Amino acid sequence: MPEFKALLDGYRRFRTTGYIEQRQRYDALANKGQSPKIMVIACSDSRVDPTRVFDTEPGQMFVLRNVANLVPPYVEDEGMHGVSSAVEYAVTQLQVHHIVVLGHARCGGIGASLSGQFDDADHGKGGFISAWMRMIAPARDRIRKAAEISADIDAAAALELEAIRISIENLHSFPFVAEAEARGELHIQGALFDIADGILRVLDRESGRFEAVPLDW
Ligand SMILES: [Zn+2]
Repeated sequence: MPEFKALLDGYRRFRTTGYIEQRQRYDALANKGQSPKIMVIACSDSRVDPTRVFDTEPGQMFVLRNVANLVPPYVEDEGMHGVSSAVEYAVTQLQVHHIVVLGHARCGGIGASLSGQFDDADHGKGGFISAWMRMIAPARDRIRKAAEISADIDAAAALELEAIRISIENLHSFPFVAEAEARGELHIQGALFDIADGILRVLDRESGRFEAVPLDW
C-alpha cells in the first residue's frame, strides 16, 4: 500500500518548494498564532478542497470538514460536539467575520441520504452516517416526494442546496452566532461548488437562490 509513501514524498516536495516560498508567512503564523477571518465548513470529499477552490494561503481560513458539510442544531448537553466546538472557537475566540457553508455537487453523503442505503444500518455498517444525515431527513422526504411527481426535479441537486440552507438555519440556533450576526460582526454565506463545470454558486440571502459567481472582476 504505497499511499502513505506518496504523502511523505509530497511532504518533501512541500519542504523544498512551498514551505520555503511561504517561509515568512509560516514564521509569522508560528510566532503570532492564527487569526483567520473566515471559517469554511466543507465536505470531507477528497475532490472539494476549500483551500484550492478559494486559492487561499495558510492562515487565511479556519476549516471544518465533515460528511456533507452539515451543521447540527445547537444543543446544550454533555455530548462530544465536534462541529459546535469548532463553530464556538471560530466565532467567540477567533472572531471570524464570515462562516461559509460550502456544499458540492455529487455529494456521497447527500446521495446516501436520498437512497436511504444506510437508514437501518448498524454502527460500523453505515449507522453513524445514517444518524448524522438524519438532520436533513425531513428535507430529503419532501424532495423525494416532489421528484416522484415531477421528472424535472434533480433530487440530489435540490437536496445539496437544501442541506446548505438547513446548516445555515442551524448556525442561527447558536446564540453566540445569532448575536454576532445581529451586531453586524459576522456574515453567514452559503455556496456550492461543482467540480464537473468548476462553477461556484453563492446563496443570495434575499432571493434564496444560488447564483453563479461571474469570472470577470
Ligand atoms: Zn460531500
